[in-house]
Amino acid sequence: MKIQRVDAFVIRLPFRFSFGHSIASRAYSDNLIVRVELEDGSVGFGEGIPREYVTGETIDGALADVSTFAAKLRGQEVGDFHGVKQLIHDLAIEEGLEQRRSGAAFCAVELALLDAFGKSFKTPVALELGEIQQESVQYGSVIPFGNKKIMVALLWFYKLWGFKTVKLKVGGTLEDDLAKLKTVRQIMGEDAIIRVDANCAWDVEQTLAAADKFEAFNVASIEQPIKAEDIDGLSKIVANVKQEIVVDESLCTLADAKELIAKKACGAFNIRISKVGGLLLAQQMAQLARHSGLGVHMGAQVGESAILTAAGRIFAAIEPPCKNYEGSNNSWLLQQDISRENLTVSLRGKGNIKLADGLGLNILQNRISGLTRKQMPDAHATDKVSLPK
Ligand SMILES: [Mg+2]
Repeated sequence: MKIQRVDAFVIRLPFRFSFGHSIASRAYSDNLIVRVELEDGSVGFGEGIPREYVTGETIDGALADVSTFAAKLRGQEVGDFHGVKQLIHDLAIEEGLEQRRSGAAFCAVELALLDAFGKSFKTPVALELGEIQQESVQYGSVIPFGNKKIMVALLWFYKLWGFKTVKLKVGGTLEDDLAKLKTVRQIMGEDAIIRVDANCAWDVEQTLAAADKFEAFNVASIEQPIKAEDIDGLSKIVANVKQEIVVDESLCTLADAKELIAKKACGAFNIRISKVGGLLLAQQMAQLARHSGLGVHMGAQVGESAILTAAGRIFAAIEPPCKNYEGSNNSWLLQQDISRENLTVSLRGKGNIKLADGLGLNILQNRISGLTRKQMPDAHATDKVSLPK
């Protein structure tokens, strides 16, 4: 089965409210959508979210990367799903994804290929990438950086919805963070798992001071306390605090993962499918973590559409259980999503894993065309692919 064409779209998904942390606040997300068409007419869609402070990519840089990947994929032929995995694996090696920060672009292309071939070969991607380990995901919730009134309202909502884990964005003054933690513990109760994410806001000394005070609130983990590139600082923190140190901004590539392991610079990885270059690279990264005795958290980027949510569910289905799962906030955050299926997290933080061909979604192509801000048509095709209006 031959790859006929590869097109890319940048769509803007407006949020219902703005979402902030210590680095940025946003009211919409610009997502990269890749559409792969095979010679039998099967069409697959993939998604990635290029963000400079997360994946190290700009939108235009990611589009240029997709164009490079597409040039190598067009006309390639594979006979079975094993061939699809080999094609993706070889492209990742050839394009230097081991150390190159092109995760969102690669992810969008990878997911589109998996989806298209899954549909063509009539097989769910999850069954081709691993063995099913669990049939539903237990998501945790996230409290954005912001004012206290909104935080309290969200906490009550999360509690009533039945979430067992809350991750609080911190990085204001230590007094503010402690006051917030007190409120989180009061509302969520003693049994809730509380995690914090500082999104690089502190230095080593501030982290050590905060970690010491956070013990009173039984904080399970501290995510990315300091600058992404300060790996030695992270090692020092790991050696001196009780909480698990989770790396996120420091972890984009397999080379990052290996360095973090070698330098004992974390206790767990926060693996986000779009950040690390798709499902196959995410699986390799999780394997590296587990072989080194590190924990695995499955993260999400703010503003993921159903495509990345579906990819997250597949990762959750086929990997041994992670310590925490994030994402699946689709219709809570997005004014509109792009699939017929609604993958928004259910009561008690649950997300069911349903197996259907490809990524298991029916994409609303008219939505994509309505939301498109930029299009990169297949360079070799004579026509611009026109999605139904
Ligand atoms: Mg984070």
